Amino acid sequence: MQVTRVGIPVHNTYTPTVNKPSQIYNAPVTHDIFIKSGNPSFEAYIKTPMEFKQLSQKHVIHCPYCRKPMIYGGLVAEMQRNGLFSGPIIDFVNAITPYKKVLKKGNKQVFSTIARYAQKEPQAELSTVIQSMYSTSIKKLQRQQSKIFGELFEVSKDLPDNLTGSFRAFMRIQHKRLYGIPHQEKFNLKTFTYKISKLAKSISDKKTRESVRILIKPLMEPEFKDLTSAIPKEILAGITDKPLKDKTAEGALRYIIGSIQKYGTQLGRKDIVDLCSNSIKMLNGEAVIVPFSNKEFTHDLARHQLKTLKGSPIYVKMIKIANKLPSSVSDKNSFVVKNRKANSETIGYKLLEPSITTIEHIKPSSEKGVDTLENMALACKADNNERQSLRQYLYLRKWPKRNPQIYFNDIIYWTNKEAIFHPDTVEQMANSFWEQGKIKIDTSKLRGLSEK
Ligand SMILES: [Zn+2]
Repeated sequence: MQVTRVGIPVHNTYTPTVNKPSQIYNAPVTHDIFIKSGNPSFEAYIKTPMEFKQLSQKHVIHCPYCRKPMIYGGLVAEMQRNGLFSGPIIDFVNAITPYKKVLKKGNKQVFSTIARYAQKEPQAELSTVIQSMYSTSIKKLQRQQSKIFGELFEVSKDLPDNLTGSFRAFMRIQHKRLYGIPHQEKFNLKTFTYKISKLAKSISDKKTRESVRILIKPLMEPEFKDLTSAIPKEILAGITDKPLKDKTAEGALRYIIGSIQKYGTQLGRKDIVDLCSNSIKMLNGEAVIVPFSNKEFTHDLARHQLKTLKGSPIYVKMIKIANKLPSSVSDKNSFVVKNRKANSETIGYKLLEPSITTIEHIKPSSEKGVDTLENMALACKADNNERQSLRQYLYLRKWPKRNPQIYFNDIIYWTNKEAIFHPDTVEQMANSFWEQGKIKIDTSKLRGLSEK
């Protein structure tokens, strides 16, 4: 049966055509969920989130938020497995060029610099290029960040008197972080636990990851709230049989941090080692150099410094300014500074990671959103991470109103052409966007089965 055009742009499949160093990036579709049009069969419908994600392996799907096309994570993993990120940059450049349009703004800028570098030094490694960019990038980044700090400082003059002191102290520390100046910081258990848990999740060796998780777990116990309190033996069961010299929470904490640091050293994970050694220095009252993080900055500003003002005009104003801080996704210099010590493999992955297709719950799980396809959408990893469990209509405010429709045009097009979903499923997905996102989706191009 003939497929009729539905008046939306023709989608090209991702088939690298230029300078292809090998066939591996042209990953074959291994699943059999796609069938020819005119022969829709219930068996062929996408049933699992995994199959839904795989849709972006074969077809261009635009993120409903940022409207950027996404890249299938399996493809990125395959590139990594094949050593593409740690080989000569010319191979990297040739392989990524066909996917350039998926790259986020900052990532694309970095990629362009790498591509230029590859013309001069095709055999260089990714990490070499990033290191060569560092001295210029750090200066530009600091200038940008200082400007935003200045704006915040101006607005902070209207803060209530009782908050001014702690805000200034907070900004002094952040300023030292920004310029890499050694300074004293109090150890904060919550911050440490949060950061180390996040880093631990990215440990690739399963056994080590589990050992580190076991080490972190006791830190949630109430005994650790006061570092001078005595630690009951049971809390350390499974961590150490030897009695610790210092039987207080602080003694146990030092032991735990020291043990995690050893794993970090074994793994060659500088991020883990740095976090642990800084934490020990903080406990000792020694000066530390802590890298500035815009995410952490905005989080601390909203959740701690301005907590009591939440929702007030000055709160909104200050958070809006803080959100202008460049991130490694939006800004080239920020990416370079953040990854200056990373190995080539990490750099390659980080350039593509924000664009990877992920599944997101239209109504968040934390709001009792269900695990069915009708409540799911594909979204790029950057947006999925940024939105977290924020209500969809709030997150959608950040983006042009027509973006969700562009995403649905993709879904509708392939549903009509390849019967990937029952039309009712798409209808319900659109309805979820209406209920949760307050965005009306036009599904009039969707053809019902009966019409075929
Ligand atoms: Zn996106």
